[in-house]
Amino acid sequence: MANPIIVAIDGYSSCGKSTIAKALAKYAGYTYVDTGAMYRAIGLYTLRHNLTEPADIIAALPNIQVGFILVDGAQHVTLNGEDVESQIRTLEAGNCASRISQIKEVRAFLVAQQQRMGEAKGIVMDGRDIGTVVFPNAELKLFLTASPEVRAQRRYDELVEKGEKPDFAAVLADVNDRDYRDTHRAESPLRQADDAIVVDNSNLTREEQMKVIYDLFDRHQ
Ligand code: C5P
Repeated sequence: MANPIIVAIDGYSSCGKSTIAKALAKYAGYTYVDTGAMYRAIGLYTLRHNLTEPADIIAALPNIQVGFILVDGAQHVTLNGEDVESQIRTLEAGNCASRISQIKEVRAFLVAQQQRMGEAKGIVMDGRDIGTVVFPNAELKLFLTASPEVRAQRRYDELVEKGEKPDFAAVLADVNDRDYRDTHRAESPLRQADDAIVVDNSNLTREEQMKVIYDLFDRHQ
């Protein structure tokens, strides 16, 4: 790594952030950090301990350790040393993550940890507030987006693949609701950093998109 940098990737739900972040980290030989997984791990802790009140969740933070391990080359999130990768990917843990991510103290707790992870640079981090709050000085900031219809279609296809029979209008309404919640919450709402480069992948194939992103990265080398 001649000149390690920090790459911050933010964007709406279901616009392929983690796929892109993982591919770029591999291309660059960097560490990838999925910050959504960290919020989900805390969400899982609160579910397991029946914590619903913000004050109780805040009081529990000193007892929570979130980390990452590599399992067969894939990153898994750990909660107090336990591999909880599969448990955090449920709809319930996702909804809980969305709720606890509104608590200022929870955000401060994870942001401090994320900042330590980036001290040595050479990192690709994705989330909602990476270019604005976690690493406002990141050398490369990407803001990914795609139209709500395209993102709803991708989610619809995923659900069909899982054997479900979704209603497209309902999936689209859910995408719009999540966008609204992400961009209107009081604490660190999703917004594009002024110096972020917007990549709208509505009409790009995965290959076209990765070429754009690898080229942007190479300009920093
Ligand atoms: O990206 P993912 O769906 O795994 O994120 C789970 C939840 O954590 C989302 O609801 C999102 O609002 C929240 N989150 C956040 N800040 C981040 C990453 C995720 O508030 N940096």
